[in-house]
Amino acid sequence: MVFRILRPDSALVWNNEELRRRFPRYRGIIDDNEIARYIIAKSIECDFDPNDSIKNLENLLSEKSLEFKEVLKKSTEEQKKRSIVSKNFINLAEELANRYLENCIFCERQCKVNRIKDETGFCYLSKDSYVSSAFLHSGEEAPLTPSGTIFFQGCNFGCVFCQNYDISQSWKNKKKIEDVAQKVGVKQLAALADRLVEKGAININYVGGDPIPNIHTIVGSLQYQTSNITQLWNSNFFLTDKSLSLILDLMDFWLPDWKYGNNECGKRFSGIDNYFDVIARNHKRIHDEGSGEIIIRHLVMPNHIECCSKPILDFVVKELPKAVVNLMAQYRPQWKSSEYPEINRRPSMGEIREVKNYADDLGILYESVS
Ligand code: SF4
Repeated sequence: MVFRILRPDSALVWNNEELRRRFPRYRGIIDDNEIARYIIAKSIECDFDPNDSIKNLENLLSEKSLEFKEVLKKSTEEQKKRSIVSKNFINLAEELANRYLENCIFCERQCKVNRIKDETGFCYLSKDSYVSSAFLHSGEEAPLTPSGTIFFQGCNFGCVFCQNYDISQSWKNKKKIEDVAQKVGVKQLAALADRLVEKGAININYVGGDPIPNIHTIVGSLQYQTSNITQLWNSNFFLTDKSLSLILDLMDFWLPDWKYGNNECGKRFSGIDNYFDVIARNHKRIHDEGSGEIIIRHLVMPNHIECCSKPILDFVVKELPKAVVNLMAQYRPQWKSSEYPEINRRPSMGEIREVKNYADDLGILYESVS
């Protein structure tokens, strides 16, 4: 028997009709009235030659994605009648992920290192994935709690104010990764996820650091997971178009972290080129082509209301009408923030109020998750 430790608001939040309307499949999976996407993907037959070219495998993935979306339209009863096939959509996505790993293009840094041969790029990770912790998280947004959260070691960003710098950045060049995190293969990751479900998780939440450098392990683990549980991608979303295609159909819920409303701030504080262009493109894709069930986390930063908070909210209201936004007030100077005077303080009450007023004026849904 599963005992769910609930925060009172994690149950009450579902009294919000609008939230139920925006997250129908997620709620349906919790209630066992819907089937998680990755389980449906296991019923899509994909007969491919592992020696085939990347281009041909990508074409097959696009073709099978259309078939997957047709199955998704069928009733839950019809979906339940489908059998899991031995060579399926997940095998194909995993094969492609491992091919990309030879010339890594998982994120838009596009380091193009051969991680299979243990070369490392900016994230400092070879082919192996490492988990720094995995537990039932009761501090996520109310509709997501309790969340089976899996923290991966390593990140593709270099945010100067990082609040998880111990698992994202500070270990690089100083500590062996084996000394700070546990190596996991696809089966171990699946076992971790299954254990979290047994403990009462209502979703499996891939975070870090960032999950992006670990796409191959996460996708591969889905072949071994068995529970009807929401798969949730909690990330900076700096994926390439190709790597997003690997998980677009497999994730039920998206939890992007949208920090900056322009490219310049992304470069200055996270060392990223084309931040806004890439993040906006990926949000549009998960909204229009993916599940569309999204909570965008926006950390309000001091002195960045006009250049960051407002342009993000403008984009959300125009391009992502189904998304819910968590306006986060908990920014505090950490890691190297003291070298950047403009962000070396907490945001003021006035700044937080200004962002909330702006969201109210635009009609954005944020209160139930903020
Ligand atoms: S995941 Fe990103 S940062 Fe890491 S090696 Fe690949 S392209 Fe580089």
